[in-house]
Amino acid sequence: MKFSAGAPITVPVGRFAPSPTGPLHFGSLLAAVASYLEVGAGTWLVRVEDVDRPRTVAGMSAHQLETLAAYGFKWSTSGVVRQSERSALYQTALERLISTGLVYPCTCTRSMLANDADTQVGVDGARIYPGHCRHWQPGDPVPEKAAWRFRVGGVDDPPIVFHDRIQGDQAQQLAREVGDFVIKRADGCFTYQLAVVVDDLAQGVTQVVRGADLLDSTARQIALVEALNGRVPTYAHIPIVTNPAGEKLSKQTRAAALPTVGEQARVAALWHALSFLGQSPPDALMRGGVETLWQWAAVHWSIERVPKQRSGGAFPKIPE
Ligand code: GLU
Ligand code: ZN
Repeated sequence: MKFSAGAPITVPVGRFAPSPTGPLHFGSLLAAVASYLEVGAGTWLVRVEDVDRPRTVAGMSAHQLETLAAYGFKWSTSGVVRQSERSALYQTALERLISTGLVYPCTCTRSMLANDADTQVGVDGARIYPGHCRHWQPGDPVPEKAAWRFRVGGVDDPPIVFHDRIQGDQAQQLAREVGDFVIKRADGCFTYQLAVVVDDLAQGVTQVVRGADLLDSTARQIALVEALNGRVPTYAHIPIVTNPAGEKLSKQTRAAALPTVGEQARVAALWHALSFLGQSPPDALMRGGVETLWQWAAVHWSIERVPKQRSGGAFPKIPE
């Protein structure tokens, strides 16, 4: 076969990256289904996001993987990486950022920052870091017990713009909306923002499909990808599902665990997930098997039909 000169042959690489803090729930299923179907015949990776060790529940990642297997997802078990085993990789990235002057050590305590009454509140609801420690330069002594912060540039810099394949064009001015953010905490833990970027780059992820609760993290992640000279993946943020009280499903809001026992219950959950994602699966498939539903979904999936909103409302009642 002949390929036209210079046309890159790229296999899409997608991922599902649950944090093992509780059983997978309906919101997790949505992110898994959307990322899985969007990657099609490409490579779908499962990553254990246990970088935040204090929040990790023992045995939970094995349970999550068993749940995914019960729902008929297919991934290469050899490709499952655990963030808790990848500190050396994150440290290398941190050192690269240190040498280019893009990060600096910060010794401000939480109470010091909380008392800084005139700082603005950013997109996360946290106060924007006022920059006390910004004067540090590569070569200056590194204080003990310091966190490392990423410099986001000035308030007059152009915003980070990106196209989200579901939510449309996005822009975020990091200095005004987020501020210099922590990539390694004073206790030595790397943060989600750094770990997710380093892993996506290391694993060659080309498409990120996940819940819209992470839309506000994306500009930070793009800034890190660029600082590390990486290739920015494509982004698609699916609407998040809420409980009837309008709260995002999570361990904190006591989201119900996905049913794992009984094929009918799994088919129902999967059918509702496809329906929530705008795919309109035929009613008859509700009474079939998991494999038949996956076959239908693989043929009919279209990201264009996913509702273009950040929140898709309350999750359906799934029969047990
Ligand atoms: N670990 C994150 C979560 O469980 C997902 C991270 C991501 O997809 O970027 O919410
Ligand atoms: Zn500081």
